[in-house]
Parts: sequence; C-alpha cells; structure tokens
Amino acid sequence: MRWQCNLARRFKKDSAYAAEYKAFMDNVLAKGYAERVPQEQLCRNDGHVWHIPHHGVYHKRKNKLRVVFDCSSSYRGQSLNAELLQGPDLASSLLGILLRFCQGRIAIMADIEAMYYQVQVREDHRDFLRFLWWPGGDTTKPLEAYRMNVHLFGAVSSPSIANFALKQTAYDNTDKYSMEVLDIIKHGFYVDDCLKDQWRHVSSKENPADTASHGLHIEPFLSSTKWLRGPDFLSKEEAEWPKGPEDLGHIRSSDPEVKGNTITVNCLNTSNGATCKLLEYYSSWKKLQRAVAWWLKCKKLLLLRCQKTKVIVTRSKSKERQQGLTVEDLDEAEKAILLHEQQRYFEPELTLLKKGTPVKADSSLRKLDPILNDEGILRIGGRISNAAIPVSLKNLIILPRDSHVSKLILRDIHQQVGHSGRNHMLARLNQKFWLPSANSSARKIIKPCVFCRRMQA
Ligand SMILES: [Zn+2]
Repeated sequence: MRWQCNLARRFKKDSAYAAEYKAFMDNVLAKGYAERVPQEQLCRNDGHVWHIPHHGVYHKRKNKLRVVFDCSSSYRGQSLNAELLQGPDLASSLLGILLRFCQGRIAIMADIEAMYYQVQVREDHRDFLRFLWWPGGDTTKPLEAYRMNVHLFGAVSSPSIANFALKQTAYDNTDKYSMEVLDIIKHGFYVDDCLKDQWRHVSSKENPADTASHGLHIEPFLSSTKWLRGPDFLSKEEAEWPKGPEDLGHIRSSDPEVKGNTITVNCLNTSNGATCKLLEYYSSWKKLQRAVAWWLKCKKLLLLRCQKTKVIVTRSKSKERQQGLTVEDLDEAEKAILLHEQQRYFEPELTLLKKGTPVKADSSLRKLDPILNDEGILRIGGRISNAAIPVSLKNLIILPRDSHVSKLILRDIHQQVGHSGRNHMLARLNQKFWLPSANSSARKIIKPCVFCRRMQA
C-alpha cells in the first residue's frame, strides 16, 4: 500500500512529525472519538465498510499538526463524500449574528471544542468511517483497523448534522434552561462559535463592533487584534473591568451617537429582533445600505480568514480585499435587506413558493401571482391578468406595505426625483419595486417633508 509506505517513510525521516501524529491519534482514541474495530467485526461483508486515508497537515499559525481524514479520496470511482448527502444548511445567518453582536453593550465569545467530535455516529454506520493505524503509532507493528465513533471534519454531511444536533439539544432541554440560554444556542452560534450580548459596557475604543460600524480600511482591520481576541480588559480580573454606564459621566443628548429613544437589549426571545432593530435604527436608505454592505464585507473577510484551503484565499483575495465599498457590495446589501424584509412580512408565502406551491387564496399577494427569482427575492409573476396591474409591472420586487425599509426606499426616491411630487415618485418606484397602496404611502412621505413645505410656502 503506497499510503502506508509513504507515511512510514515520513515518520522515519521526521521524528517530530511522527511524535505529533502519534499524539493526535492517541488523543482521538483516548477521548473515545475512535476505537479499534473488534476482532469479530473485522470481516463485515454487507458492503457497509469504507476505509479513509489520513495524512498530517500543519496549522500555519499555531504550527501544530492535525491529522486530516480524507473523505473525498476515491477508490474504484467511489468516495465517501460522493455518497453522503450534504443535508440542509442549518447554520444561523452570520449577518444576523454579527448584527446582534454589535447591538449589546458587551459581547461574549465562546466556542465548542471540536464540535463535530461531540456528535456520535450511529453504531451501524461507524464502519463507513474505518481507517488504518499502527497500534501505539509503532510502524514496526502490522496496521490495524480502527473506526470513528463521531463525525469527521472532512465529511460533507458533518456541518449539517452537527448544527442539527446543537439546535436539537436546545429543544430537548427547553424545561431545564432559561429562554435566553436556549435562544443563544439556537441563534447565537455560527457553526461552533458563539457570539453573545453581554451585559457590560464596552467603550467605543475597546469595542470591536464599533470599528466595523464606522467603516475602516482592510489592512488595519485584518491586523486588529480586537476582532480576534475581544477588548483587552477581558483578559484581566473582573474587578478591573470598566464600570457600568452610570459611571460614564453625562452624555450630551445632542451627541450624534445618541438616539432619542434608548436602545435596550431585551429582544433575546425573538429570532429576528436584533436585525429588525438595526434596520429600524437607520432613517436613511443609503446609510442602511452602506451599513449592511460593511457588515457583509466583514463577514466575507472573517470567513476568508477561516478558510483553510489556499486556493480559495488566492482566488477571492483580490476582490474581497478591495478597500471601500463597490457598487456590487451595495447591490448585495440591498438584496440582503430585501430578503430579510420579505422574510419578515411574507414568511407563509415564501415557504409555499420555495416548495413550488402557489400562495394561498387569502394571501394579500395572490393577485400578483408572486414568483421567486434565483436569488430568492419575491417578485410579481408573469401570469397576472388583473386589470389593476399593468403588464409593465411584471418582475417588480414586492415590498411590504408598512415596513420601515419600504418607507426608507420611498423617501430616498422622493429625494432622488427632487421632491417633485407623487406621480414622479411612483413612476420611479415602479421601475423596480411594487408597493401595495403606494399612493397613500407616498403621500405620507411628502406631507411631513420639510423641503417640500418650504417650497410651497
Ligand atoms: Zn419633499
């Protein structure tokens, strides 16, 4: 076997490599993540056996060896990953998590150690995860068959399974823990990383989220340790932590950072609470769009930092590291906001349409014959026969009637058309969007407009 010879040769040549490899395997076995296949089960012949090759990979930053099980490796045209189903994407929206992370006065970060290893594989499936190893790492001994008892990092099904297990744990323990704890488990985790609102005040200088909300150039961002380690005081004794806001002195009400109403962090039991509040915090469509665009850019950069394969980093580096926001960034932000708002207001319709079922007869969108485009955005469909809706409105993005975002878009259009009245506004609106009762919504924007009043006076 070539794999066996190569590994044995490498061990002979590099004793440090051999020692680290052995230590990794010892740990996997000692923790029960894997076990030796019992003698009587070695000859399983129902076709439910697969052997996975493994090799060592050095973690660049930590300079630590990790043994990688190659689930994509193929034998006679077959591979484990090709047979496994990926499962649904159960990860919470990173945008939502980041927005919530930014909302609290203090943020707590935590993670689950070796998350996939915490989820057991069904006993009758474990022989699909067999591997060969020398007992005690001693290459003079014959290789023996071992098998994983838990999920592997390289298997395509592992992320979905681990996310499901994590969320199910929350559901199974509903009666044992508070709503806040369960909600954090359900919504605060991005894979194995938890971001939680904390309860202490972090000064603007110390707050990693603050950096992002102001916008910054990429290089300082990447070298900022605050984002990776959190504020410096977290590593000190609790007594040295900053005091609560009552000790912060008087804050001027004219301070541009102060909003008229205090923002309280008490929306932990609504899944979308944090995102909705953030969207409502902005009174200008352009500012909201830019803020979300920055968040999406941060998300990409954070993901990029986590990427293990060089290939992906090289390919996306030039684009993602561009400084400032591009037109594409803003378009993407617009899409993210629209998706969020449509999900909030049209959830039943979206659920049906995603399944390929038409919306219910009593839906307010029924007569628009709504469809979903490739990006999952709800638009006016192609078969509208209702005389009230001209054919030219086909494919317009449907906006919810009383949503804050719809108002921001309408107000933005009002400014774009130079405060020139309702008809102009609606014509511009209908180049892209469909808003029910747009007439009365437009009136509500024009009526309080200070500029328009002054013009008429
Ligand atoms: Zn106006």
